[in-house]
Amino acid sequence: MWKRIKNFLINLLFPKYCLGCQREGDYLCEDCQATLEISSIHQKADLEELSDLYFAADYQKPLIQNVIQQFKYEPFIKELAKSLSSLIIEHFQLLDNKPDFTDFILIPAPLAKRRQRWRGFNQAEEISLNLAEFWKIPLLNGALFKIKNTLPQVELSDEERKENIKGAFICKSPEKIKGKKILLVDDVFTTGSTMTECARILKVSGAREIIGIVVARG
Ligand SMILES: [Zn+2]
Repeated sequence: MWKRIKNFLINLLFPKYCLGCQREGDYLCEDCQATLEISSIHQKADLEELSDLYFAADYQKPLIQNVIQQFKYEPFIKELAKSLSSLIIEHFQLLDNKPDFTDFILIPAPLAKRRQRWRGFNQAEEISLNLAEFWKIPLLNGALFKIKNTLPQVELSDEERKENIKGAFICKSPEKIKGKKILLVDDVFTTGSTMTECARILKVSGAREIIGIVVARG
């Protein structure tokens, strides 16, 4: 009841506008969401350190890029995570062969402390919270940490990328990772260096299997 009143007041004071068509109501209205062409197929990906990668949409679509970029600039809209999570959930609902993640745990790709404090939240964690609820599986926070502020990977050469990401992540509680099957969650997979490095650290810490899940792939 109070939650509903609170939401009503928030919507009244801070109306949401669709990032695609500016219509009032939600950050991503149903019509615009339909234009994103959520993938209904899954092709097994064999990537370095990741045994598979699931993605809902193509990062080349300007609208999806716009929505994901909104996370990175002020004002940071935490609630966007809901719209983005719903794209991932829709992707899994569209798949003919639905994977079984019941014995997996979710781990969000971490943000550096300073960045998270500035933004107020970690978008990967917000998405993971929704996925944990959808699959009814645990979310593990506080095992994987980002201890170095990195530069945006897209602007760097291959060699610079490796140097940039090196030593950026650490696992503080390997006992929580050992033997676990992990769903590693992030908003986007472009160069793949963040996810690959996170997965490498999790592997070194004893993880049994790591599957990546992102909203969009570049
Ligand atoms: Zn719209």
